[in-house]
Amino acid sequence: MYERILPARCSGSWSVGSMLVLMAIRKVRLLGDPVLRSKCNLVDDPASPAIRIVADDLLDTFEDLQKMGGGGGLSASQIGAPIQLIYIVLEGPAVMVNPEIVDIGADDFLYWDSCASFSNLLVRVQRAFHVVVRYQDLEGKTCEVEAEGPRAQLLQHEIDHLDGLLAIDLALGFDPFCLREEWDEHHSEEGRHSEPYPRIGPAHPEFRF
Ligand SMILES: [Zn+2]
Repeated sequence: MYERILPARCSGSWSVGSMLVLMAIRKVRLLGDPVLRSKCNLVDDPASPAIRIVADDLLDTFEDLQKMGGGGGLSASQIGAPIQLIYIVLEGPAVMVNPEIVDIGADDFLYWDSCASFSNLLVRVQRAFHVVVRYQDLEGKTCEVEAEGPRAQLLQHEIDHLDGLLAIDLALGFDPFCLREEWDEHHSEEGRHSEPYPRIGPAHPEFRF
């Protein structure tokens, strides 16, 4: 359960009726915390005050992570709320409730993935190069977003969190793990991902042993 205690650090407030609600930076749950392996619950009412609280906490925590060079998204399970809600920055920031991938195109690509729950580690994974994601916004409206390359990978990463799946579970190829310090020394951002290649057909050269 997501138990909201009086936060140590607060960055704002809003009201539900006469109740003042403090916005809070939550502790980011780290690899090994069982909540990261939760199969997250569907959200029945995206417009409810309880969901708004989690969404605001997620935004606050995400913005705090940015000060330390955090990534492009965060899932509710990473702040201890196992519900199907993510905060993500694509063209702009968005809160996605009950997101699901409804199309994955025909190509995959390789990507050195990272996660706020194990920020010192990069993991090479194979993801769909193109996805279409359907979700609800905080008013309950159904929306769709289409993304390619790193943005598509980010969506898949955050949606995987909602199934209790982490990038380390998808590690592929020879030597797929790299500490950030070593990655910074031996790789470059240009090499963060491969070109797309057909999912059906010869394996990517990285996987031909
Ligand atoms: Zn993550």
